[in-house]
Amino acid sequence: MVEPRPLVIAVDGPAASGKGTLARRLAEYFGLRHLDTGSLYRAVGLKLLKNNNDPANGSLAEAAARDLQENDLTDPSLREDTTAKAASFVAAQPRVRAVLLAYQRAFAQQLPGAVLDGRDIGTVVCPDATAKIYLDASVEVRAARRAKELQVGATESIESRVLSDMIERDARDSQRDVAPLKIADDACVIDTTGLGPDGVFERAQAFVSSRRN
Ligand code: C5P
Repeated sequence: MVEPRPLVIAVDGPAASGKGTLARRLAEYFGLRHLDTGSLYRAVGLKLLKNNNDPANGSLAEAAARDLQENDLTDPSLREDTTAKAASFVAAQPRVRAVLLAYQRAFAQQLPGAVLDGRDIGTVVCPDATAKIYLDASVEVRAARRAKELQVGATESIESRVLSDMIERDARDSQRDVAPLKIADDACVIDTTGLGPDGVFERAQAFVSSRRN
């Protein structure tokens, strides 16, 4: 008898490239669970910030990752930009990534499967994913989206701060030694700069359906 295999969809890309929106829609369409893996790193970073600890401290970050609880993933402060910055420091720690890896893999492997979005899903967490999608967009467009999300679009100085934070975070995420952000060889790359959520979803859904068959 052939063992049923989970349908695993990896969605990777830089900040505000549209991963979360796409991942949620794909999960709903294919009847899968969804894991926003960025929230795991954000939760670890937030724990350190709340305790006035340095997010670049490897031992403390590892301890915070081991201590992660379900309710840490629902804290409204997870969405703040200071938390995102802290997340990108803890995410560069190999021991933090090792602690979070097992959880992410176990999540993906439960039937009927799952959509995971992050930075290293197609390259490290689920290298055998059924379908890998990499979303990209110009950093200016991504920063404008984030500024709008923060409801601060009105002031130019805040927009430029969001842009410079994003350039720094992109650099930390793509240049770190462990699991850097990069395009998996077999990923379908979608540039979302001039494409709305419906257009992105249609392309991604067609790609996943073709990989499934
Ligand atoms: O996707 P999000 O912006 O919530 O991710 C926050 C940070 O968490 C990223 O900037 C990155 O440093 C880290 N991250 C990661 N690997 C993932 C998901 C997120 O390193 N799979």
